[in-house]
Amino acid sequence: MARLLIVGPQGSGKGTQGIRIAEAYGIPAISTGDMFRAAVASGSDLGNQVTEIMQSGNLVPDELTSAVVRDRLTQADAAQGFLLDGYPRNVGQVADLDAFLAGRGEQLDAVIELVVPREESIERLTLRAAEQGRADDTEEAIANRLAIYERETAPILDVYRERGIAVEIDGVGTLDEITDRLIAALEGRGLSRSTAA
Ligand code: ADP
Repeated sequence: MARLLIVGPQGSGKGTQGIRIAEAYGIPAISTGDMFRAAVASGSDLGNQVTEIMQSGNLVPDELTSAVVRDRLTQADAAQGFLLDGYPRNVGQVADLDAFLAGRGEQLDAVIELVVPREESIERLTLRAAEQGRADDTEEAIANRLAIYERETAPILDVYRERGIAVEIDGVGTLDEITDRLIAALEGRGLSRSTAA
């Protein structure tokens, strides 16, 4: 059983590594960015509410985001553990998640911080923009998302550091090297994959 959160700046590779870790632990990878993009693509009410916000690189309001995550975490496949990617993203969302988990007698086991130098993440983002053409990979939206990360998301790591559950991982290397580092660090904290489910 593992309840994990992966945090890192845009272009840190947290989405890719999150999926790999979730697979290794047999838990669902829950990405708020992916959920919102799917909502936009489907043209649902939620999608319509978030389209413009996402395009500008701003954050979807906490109340809406936390409700979406609570819904998702209530699904059966998340009962034995989960990996959150992209949520919580500010201290208000940390409080929302704490309250929700506390109500179930649960808490996060580890918060992975993927550390990547600014130049490297900007390089990766530029590459992704050319390859995938994400609506929020314009120069302006990227700059806004990075600024919001520094201002609002980086501070949540202090909260988790104080709780003693933050794990810093060097995010530079090959995909496999980084996954190995992540798994080694989690196992070092007693989160073994064999007892994951
Ligand atoms: P990135 O980390 O590259 O910015 P994500 O896929 O994590 O990309 O998120 C894309 C967008 O989805 C964000 O810019 C924001 O508009 C919205 N979003 C995702 N997660 C959250 C969240 N936890 N709170 C508010 N908005 C979010």
